Amino acid sequence: MDHDALHRAPSWAWVDLSALNHNLGQVAACADGRKILAVVKADAYGHGAVAVAQFLDQRAITRPDLLCVAFLDEAITLREAGIGLPILLMTGCPPDQVATVAHYRLTPMVLDRPSLEALGHHAVSCGEAIGIHIKIDTGMGRLGVPQSDAAAFLRDAVRTPGIRVEGICSHLADADDAVFSARQVDDFQDTLSALRAAGVVTPPAHMAGSGAILHLDFARLDQVRPGLMLYGYCPGKGAPQVPLRPVMQVSARVLSVKTHPAGTAISYGRTHVTRRESRIATVAIGYADGYPRALSNKGIMIAGGRRVPVVGRVCMDMTMIDVTDVPGVCVGDAVTVMGAEGGAAIWADELATLCDTIPYEILCGMGSRVHRIYASRQGASVVRGRVERGGV
Ligand SMILES: *Cc1c(COP(=O)(O)O)cnc(C)c1O
Repeated sequence: MDHDALHRAPSWAWVDLSALNHNLGQVAACADGRKILAVVKADAYGHGAVAVAQFLDQRAITRPDLLCVAFLDEAITLREAGIGLPILLMTGCPPDQVATVAHYRLTPMVLDRPSLEALGHHAVSCGEAIGIHIKIDTGMGRLGVPQSDAAAFLRDAVRTPGIRVEGICSHLADADDAVFSARQVDDFQDTLSALRAAGVVTPPAHMAGSGAILHLDFARLDQVRPGLMLYGYCPGKGAPQVPLRPVMQVSARVLSVKTHPAGTAISYGRTHVTRRESRIATVAIGYADGYPRALSNKGIMIAGGRRVPVVGRVCMDMTMIDVTDVPGVCVGDAVTVMGAEGGAAIWADELATLCDTIPYEILCGMGSRVHRIYASRQGASVVRGRVERGGV
């Protein structure tokens, strides 16, 4: 982004690529030599898929073996940005997308026979094999070949001309539940061992997202698929056994500061009424930017190094905070919406808890008006006002 655009930005996200690198190192330590299939779907969980993928592809301490996205357009965006790593299309490949998938050298996850057949026909007609991964549903009830059909499906796939089966996978429904997860892993592995006993060469298997990578060693299998942990958070309950560093910090500009007498209603619906004379700052971020409306009267931001409450409803473009106890907050200042500043912190996991969601949704929700800035270290202020941040 050019300097002027940054100067004008109402809100911005520092994406700390050195933190991403650190987290990738932690994944590699947990993976212990297994291949890493790095998940960059949903614009790399809001961090910017192209920048994240370029970093992973070219500059990271460990180059992942493959990138995972959900949809075809996400994969095309990465290919057109020059990303050369294999890309796994996790939601499958409908027959009408086969030619495009082959053209961009993508690796589809195959979920059913029509797409297996369409991919095989295309590969044979072009004289070029297509690598696939097969998805088995072992208890998520979402995508994949039913467990009961898994063995037959893998046999069919390995016999399909033009198809190279490069992986087989499943997905855990509840990595917080070790008992249920073990059941899913056992069913999956039983299928694979039965096939091996029958002489079928089974491809590498993978099942573990961040939750299992961090907590369920029995689910790590041959390859791992980390998403959230790359971005610095631990999913589900329980603290991570490895130190992770949040990659994204979000700041927004103060648009107005006013002193209101006690008894003044703030924002739509008048859900907050000042109890004392209060200094209220209006901050340039709202639910259109992914600051959840559910944080109305619940959210926390950091102004002048102190945690301050969100007061009243979060609006589309703006949110009000009470800065009565933080002297010196001025129009044009930056407040920390998510991140650490002056010893205080508010991260996506805490924001998620405050509004009854998960850190995934907070990160993925960060909107396009929040300018992304990529840096390997926390940079100095490049914006008007005080942009003071502690190190992460
Ligand atoms: C999103 C996703 C992942 C990554 O999950 P995290 O919990 O973010 O690590 C892995 N596998 C599949 C199939 C996914 O959809």
